[in-house]
Amino acid sequence: MTEEDLLAEGDRRALTYIRSATERRPFPDNDALNGLVAFNEPLPNQGLGEAETLELLDRFGSPATVASNGPRYFGFVIGALLPAVAAADRLALAWDQCASSHDTSPACAAVEKVAARWVLDILDLPRESGVGFGTSATTGTIACLSAARRTLLGRAGWNFDRHGLAGAPEIRLVLSAAAHITVKKAARLLGFGMAHVVEAPVDNHGRVDPARLPALDESTILCLQAGEVNTGEYDPFKEIIPVAHEAGAWTHVDGAFGLWARASNRRSLTTGIEGADSWTTDGHKWLNTSYDSAIAICRDANALAQTMNSDAVYFNASNDAQKNVTLEFSRRPRGIGIWAALRSLGREGVAALIERHCDYATHLADRLRSSGFDVINRVAINQVLVRCETNEQTLAVRQAVLDSGRTWFGLTQWQGRPAFRLSISSWRTGIEHIELLVEALIEARAAVQAAR
Ligand SMILES: *Cc1c(COP(=O)(O)O)cnc(C)c1O
Repeated sequence: MTEEDLLAEGDRRALTYIRSATERRPFPDNDALNGLVAFNEPLPNQGLGEAETLELLDRFGSPATVASNGPRYFGFVIGALLPAVAAADRLALAWDQCASSHDTSPACAAVEKVAARWVLDILDLPRESGVGFGTSATTGTIACLSAARRTLLGRAGWNFDRHGLAGAPEIRLVLSAAAHITVKKAARLLGFGMAHVVEAPVDNHGRVDPARLPALDESTILCLQAGEVNTGEYDPFKEIIPVAHEAGAWTHVDGAFGLWARASNRRSLTTGIEGADSWTTDGHKWLNTSYDSAIAICRDANALAQTMNSDAVYFNASNDAQKNVTLEFSRRPRGIGIWAALRSLGREGVAALIERHCDYATHLADRLRSSGFDVINRVAINQVLVRCETNEQTLAVRQAVLDSGRTWFGLTQWQGRPAFRLSISSWRTGIEHIELLVEALIEARAAVQAAR
């Protein structure tokens, strides 16, 4: 096959898959899962052919995918993929750019620079901030916490780049007691030591309680969050951040999905967030860009660039070159999908996407409440936490819904008891899919109760 025919074949199969996105089972059935043994081949000595390789991937891989790029998937906070982003990604893949800097790709550097400006604009964060387009909120947090620690040590007269941590003044890390597991991972990787990390107590909604905020000073990094992963709640930024600022602490905000509420009529949930020093968010969750694309934002652009600098003697670039603000050196241009999403949706389209999901979540909560389910959270944004009368019923109802193959959602533990965690994050989800979810839950609950 020629290169052109092979790529056309890839596109044809991709289109066939996308056409079935709406009907696809949200989680593959057992036949599809059993089919995955087809991949357990020995490494071939001689190549097995390009078209056949693609065929195998499609024949056994496609049926065993999770249809998170469909309308009936409510698990985790996994968005679908906007067509404008999918198309731009395809073109950028053909470019195959190493998007390190202007030198390796003028086109990518130019587009990502605009994407950075637009992200700060739509999220209304300090326009002078540095913006890195990396693989995940996890790596964004690693970058931001690294910049935070290096900066606080620098203020204390310690050269971190030269002397590292041995003998350095101690930098304390204060995390919300409801911090996401990946923020803890970042803390662990950076050597803060979980026994040394201080927890900021939270209230019943999972928000840091300002009245019980641990002591902060100029050698403290405080991590808050916009969008608690179960309740979708926001820390009280306008009460806490000025206190942290006054104490000379660095405030970082994990807003992996929740930061996007700032681009909608739910903006007041984020009031005061602009006073922080750094922020992370994802494109691949609520903005519905492709995996893996995320954003690290640091008010002090130089602090981020000096921390993440990877200029080699043979390769110097500006402070806003992406290789100097992200963990990656060679990288694909993750900012292009974000640019395509923002350009094709515009301010109004982004707001409409976020607001629609929030409205659906409120509707879903109302329907479930009036059908006798226990809706636990206040439903601030797109997350709905639900349980049945007993833990056993909660588990059995979820299993019955999953077995029906109509929809998929995950479980969480909230205050020591299991709960459904329903997240509305896909642009493909319409009100009819919310109704379908409600029906599936009501039917499963009736079946479970009848079987008792
Ligand atoms: C998903 C999530 C993260 C981690 O984001 P990744 O892009 O998956 O690394 C961090 N915090 C919160 C609140 C999240 O929901």
